[in-house]
Amino acid sequence: MGILVVGSVALDSVATPFGQVERALGGSAVYFSLAARHYRTVRLVGVVGDDFPEEYVRLLRESAVDLRGLQSVPGQTFHWAGRYDHDLNVAHTLDTRLNVFAGFHPVLPDSYRASEFVFLANIDPTLQLDVLRQVERPLLTVVDTMNFWIAGKRDALTEVIRQTDVVLMNEAELRQYAGTDRLLAGARHVLSLGPRALVVKKGENGAALFADGVYFVAPAYPLEEVRDPTGAGDSFAGGFVGYLARTGDVTDAALRRAVIHGSVAASFTVEDFSVRRLVRVTRDEVGRRFQDMRQFTWFEPD
Ligand code: AMP
Repeated sequence: MGILVVGSVALDSVATPFGQVERALGGSAVYFSLAARHYRTVRLVGVVGDDFPEEYVRLLRESAVDLRGLQSVPGQTFHWAGRYDHDLNVAHTLDTRLNVFAGFHPVLPDSYRASEFVFLANIDPTLQLDVLRQVERPLLTVVDTMNFWIAGKRDALTEVIRQTDVVLMNEAELRQYAGTDRLLAGARHVLSLGPRALVVKKGENGAALFADGVYFVAPAYPLEEVRDPTGAGDSFAGGFVGYLARTGDVTDAALRRAVIHGSVAASFTVEDFSVRRLVRVTRDEVGRRFQDMRQFTWFEPD
């Protein structure tokens, strides 16, 4: 089944204790697409400026990402600069330049409108609402966000949450949005707005799924080396939505498996800067880590 994503297509300048990159390929829609492409073709909606390198367009095209919804307009591409210190769970934003995103209006090509799975990646929630208005009866809508929009566009974000089936947030975002340090109370608040499920991402501490009568936790895939956590959340979303779209199954049992697929996808992204590792991942590697996760979480009753 078809997957649609709207989100940022970015040039990222990132520094971690393990190195740095300047104007590397990034953005929420990019990480999502490169993770989800192992499961289904992804239709991308976004915008880039005329400084966006042709080699990045080629890389996305060669990765089987459908770019008919990617607009290219005069101006500078969205640019994000961030830094991580030794606690890689905390991103410090140094600079956010919306650039061409400031005047962007998503327009879905006709062939995108019937997409069954819709992912509203981290982007201005008013644009996320714009996309929801243009899709025809999707089977599942999933939304992600970040502190920048929780602080700046809270009401629009609440409206998006009301209209979507699954909400993805990291722990700090949930605390900020729900105004409580208690995870369960925060989860209850988000679910009370209407979504069927909430996934809370906890970086190297894994992820938790909350839904009516469901609480499920998955560890993060254990790694020898983590170099750059940028894009982990969006890649998680790519594995999560990708898996659901491949099977077309959106039952609670499928959502639990999707959390594992999300954790596996994120584990590749963080092993190197930008999308370097993600573009090299094979389906076999994805399959192996999925089986490892089964092993890590399996235990015998008495
Ligand atoms: P994450 O998965 O949360 O690490 O997402 C990282 C990606 O989000 C980076 O590649 C950034 O380009 C992108 N990003 C950072 N800030 C924003 C923002 N305010 N709106 C949209 N995308 C952003």
